[in-house]
Amino acid sequence: MIGNLFRAALFLCLLAAAAGISATANAQTLALVGGKVYASPDAMPLDDAVVITANGVIAAIGSRSDVQIPSDARVIDCAGKTVVAGFWNSHVHFTQAVWKDAGSAPAAPLAEHMQAMLTRWGFTTVWDLGSDGRDTLALRRRVNSGEVPGPDIHTAGGIFPKDGHPAYLPAEMKLPMASTPEEAAQWARTFMGFGLDGVKLFTGSFKGSGKPVVNMDPAIARAAVDVAHAAGKPVFAHPQNMAGVDAVIAAGVDIMAHTVAGEPVYSPEQLARFKQQGIALIPTLSLFAKLPVAPDIATRLVATTVSQVKVFSDTGGPVLFGTDVGFTTYYDTTLEYELMHRAMSARQILASLTTNPAQYFKAAKKGRVEKGFDADVVVLDGDPTADVTNLAKVTYTIRAGKVIYQKL
Ligand SMILES: [Zn+2]
Repeated sequence: MIGNLFRAALFLCLLAAAAGISATANAQTLALVGGKVYASPDAMPLDDAVVITANGVIAAIGSRSDVQIPSDARVIDCAGKTVVAGFWNSHVHFTQAVWKDAGSAPAAPLAEHMQAMLTRWGFTTVWDLGSDGRDTLALRRRVNSGEVPGPDIHTAGGIFPKDGHPAYLPAEMKLPMASTPEEAAQWARTFMGFGLDGVKLFTGSFKGSGKPVVNMDPAIARAAVDVAHAAGKPVFAHPQNMAGVDAVIAAGVDIMAHTVAGEPVYSPEQLARFKQQGIALIPTLSLFAKLPVAPDIATRLVATTVSQVKVFSDTGGPVLFGTDVGFTTYYDTTLEYELMHRAMSARQILASLTTNPAQYFKAAKKGRVEKGFDADVVVLDGDPTADVTNLAKVTYTIRAGKVIYQKL
């Protein structure tokens, strides 16, 4: 199986080399005129502002009287709208049937699905946490060439514990499993060789209701973490239960891809370790709210996960927005914002979409609407500090100075 993967890796490297990055090429100069701009989540808003984008970056930002609008600019009227930095969704998947053979599939269905799932909700950067790497890297190539309007895609390869095939994944799906540290390290090296951007470990794997969770031995997880970190790549984990959370801590994993539904709130000891190790959290609250369980059980799962997000956020840990979309077909982000708002302020939620991931993933030119930053911008129909669900009311999504979604 490893041999096959190396052949696949070679193929993927050739693809990546052929891809080039031209997402910023030929971007038209844009002038976003008359909106209220939040340059960052903690900045005072700038009313009746002008934002100019040119060559994929923000060329100017200021009040209408201070900024000259270039004569060749496409003017986008933002009166009554709010302008913020492009959103990150740090937990998505490109596993649905529409993405299969993404390298050769017709562009139109890919573009249509990309809009329904991601760009109409304002996402300009995403982390795919486990898909067929051949499809995801091919999709990324077609997005970056400008053929399929879409976000900047990063992708992580998943490693499962022995006997840890999750109940919710098709039984016939072949999954990379590690029963020793050496096997985990080998998988991580294979993923790095593919050109993947990170690793995702199932430190806890769900085997079905009433069945025990299969946890990954921290020493096995640690071996994969060491390989990824040596390559400068982040490691995510699906913890599933508190033993899976403790494995995250013991193995030096960077990001928890979910809260742990049905488990208690994180202990003071766990919270101290999160802080000490700089561990980040992706809530995925609406995923739990939409589980096909009795309403009273769903209510309880949401209450505990909201409490986990609250204590995590209150101790100053970095929350990264993420929904598991692509696994879940619930694309609308409104409910996620409503649930997060039970634990966090609107500005903290905006940070989880912009500055927190930009800082965490070391994207120095993303996350803010500032001169010289990447022209990744979202135009919202309403101020999110007045109503947090305005974060889901997207009028334009702009990536690298190109409009990749426009509400009709
Ligand atoms: Zn997922």
